Amino acid sequence: MPKALKKNVASMGVKSGVKKVSRQTAWQMMDLLEKRYPDAECELNWASDFQLLIAIILSAQTTDVTVNKVTPALFEKFPTAEKLATASLDEIKEIIRPTGYFNAKASNIHSCAQAIVDEFGGRVPDNLEDLTKLPGVGRKSANALLGVIHKIPGWTVDTHVQRLSGRLGLTSECDPRKIEIELEKLFPARDWSKLSITLIFHGRRTCFARKPDCPGCPIHHLCPSSLV
Ligand code: SF4
Repeated sequence: MPKALKKNVASMGVKSGVKKVSRQTAWQMMDLLEKRYPDAECELNWASDFQLLIAIILSAQTTDVTVNKVTPALFEKFPTAEKLATASLDEIKEIIRPTGYFNAKASNIHSCAQAIVDEFGGRVPDNLEDLTKLPGVGRKSANALLGVIHKIPGWTVDTHVQRLSGRLGLTSECDPRKIEIELEKLFPARDWSKLSITLIFHGRRTCFARKPDCPGCPIHHLCPSSLV
């Protein structure tokens, strides 16, 4: 493996040289994980597609718990795209400060709200192409929103899905788009959104970045990165 790629893999919390598993093992592991987290679903709080989109943008580099602490105040003042589009940047920054990177995030959600008003008549787009035209919205965020709101299947390749798909031997790719393509080939489309959330749950509750709880993991007998 090239040196740069090795470094990239390690920075995701994945040991280099993890063997890819068979389709059968991949399905078996996901089946067991779905049984472990039968109620896995989006953990952000929201009351409309617009609010979910804003919460997803704010969730970059922080936890859903932190986002859920700031969004009640944010959505009370600015519940719609129209309201947020006319807010002052300083006011937005003050509210979302605890989520980190608040300058960039404030600017993104402000511009996103303006684009929704100016280019989409105040309605959040319901397709990947238009969603990814919005400031601060990439494929990961767009797929997450489409899966939750419209039940349109898609992989949310966030930091957990990147790390776990490497550890579980589902892919040897590091680039989120390449990981997404491999996962799309491995699992049926109807399962993509549900499996994304299941992997995210496992990453948050058991397969931690620094110290995975392999003894307590329901797939340690199948996982090529198991420490037990
Ligand atoms: S066995 Fe360990 S490395 Fe593999 S998925 Fe479970 S917690 Fe993660």
